Amino acid sequence: MLYIVPKNSPSEQPIVDELTMKMVAALRKASESHIQSYGFHTCVCGARSDGTDWILPHGTRTNSLCVHYLAYHRAEVEAGELWAVEGLSDGREYPTSDELHGWPPLRDRHGRRVGAAPEIDRRRERYDARDAALSRRLVRMLWPFGARVRGAR
Ligand SMILES: [Zn+2]
Repeated sequence: MLYIVPKNSPSEQPIVDELTMKMVAALRKASESHIQSYGFHTCVCGARSDGTDWILPHGTRTNSLCVHYLAYHRAEVEAGELWAVEGLSDGREYPTSDELHGWPPLRDRHGRRVGAAPEIDRRRERYDARDAALSRRLVRMLWPFGARVRGAR
């Protein structure tokens, strides 16, 4: 399922809703397929899958970009596929940045990116930066509590 080949740019923000989270949960419970692999997939936006196919708990084969497609290329996912995702019953889990954006960019041994920055990496960087900003804000918010607790002791 979700062997799609998007033609258009990814959306600016990922859609992380019930469908995306159901897909994440199912993919995390999937087992690696050793029978036949379709190899690496690279999305039009540059997001890369891993090299194996995955068998979901109910037996459907998919690839590791399925979460990316749902989050960033929702407009190009057919209704039938959305129904299939809706029907997954493996719970709901929040995606990691890599699950949303594919495998991290290739870097040489000096940490420099290899090749041009694909479109998805701008979104990855923005997403990761926002994530970091959010946890910094959370730490600042919780800091007074911690100070109070320590003061009370
Ligand atoms: Zn993509």
